[in-house]
Amino acid sequence: MTTPSKTELQYTGKAKNVYGTTDPDLVWIEFTDGATAFNGVKRAQVRDKGEVNARLSAIIFERLDASGVPTHLASTPSPTVHICHRVQIIPVEVVVRNIAAGSLSKRLGIAEGTALDRPLVEFFYKSDALDDPLVNDDHALLFGWAQAWELAYLRHAALEVNDFLRAFWDEFDLTLVDFKLEFGRALAPDRRGQILLADEITPDGSRLWEKGTQRRFDKDVFRRDLGDLGDTYRELFRRVFGQRLHAG
Ligand code: UDP
Repeated sequence: MTTPSKTELQYTGKAKNVYGTTDPDLVWIEFTDGATAFNGVKRAQVRDKGEVNARLSAIIFERLDASGVPTHLASTPSPTVHICHRVQIIPVEVVVRNIAAGSLSKRLGIAEGTALDRPLVEFFYKSDALDDPLVNDDHALLFGWAQAWELAYLRHAALEVNDFLRAFWDEFDLTLVDFKLEFGRALAPDRRGQILLADEITPDGSRLWEKGTQRRFDKDVFRRDLGDLGDTYRELFRRVFGQRLHAG
């Protein structure tokens, strides 16, 4: 594929900026060093975070594509950029949990760290204004956020991604506690309607606990002031890629 050029800024997110490209079916997504928590209340710049997240998400999306879960990633022209198929984001965030933590523990009083008998899939309505409330299939159907077959696909694909990611992180001595996915409907005429895994899979939207020590390798380090997020992400990069981020 010839790399299209970046055009106008279309959307500024908390940790990514989205630009158009000279190909109307592709977008140019730049990962930034911005870190936010608690729906934007806590903010910081964390050196290298954009590059670590872009490179981790790219390797994971490439492997998922190869194993039959289609994603929006088309190419990676530089370490912090993903060129992606343009999608309409489905406003239902999908969280998969293997161990209780975060909002599940708070909502239902289940001690953080409790292993779940099987993976739990939760849906959240994607709305910053409402703080992403928990919803069920019926809300999504009634309010027209997704169709029944789409929800069935989201659930099925999320569980497949969970199987893949558990094995992926296990290799680096990390337990996958939970993670969040976003999906979109492809807009290009030749792919119209196809559901693609979109957004990113990074430690910003996952919980990763080191086996044995329970050291956190995810954004909880920032949310809960557990240490230096940049050092944590660079260490994660080193484990996955087998070299330091800026090694020659
Ligand atoms: N998550 C996310 N974006 C959100 C909310 C949650 O990426 O807006 C991720 C979060 O990093 C964790 C998982 O989804 O890996 C489950 O998060 P939870 O519902 O426990 O919410 P939190 O405690 O992070 O607010």
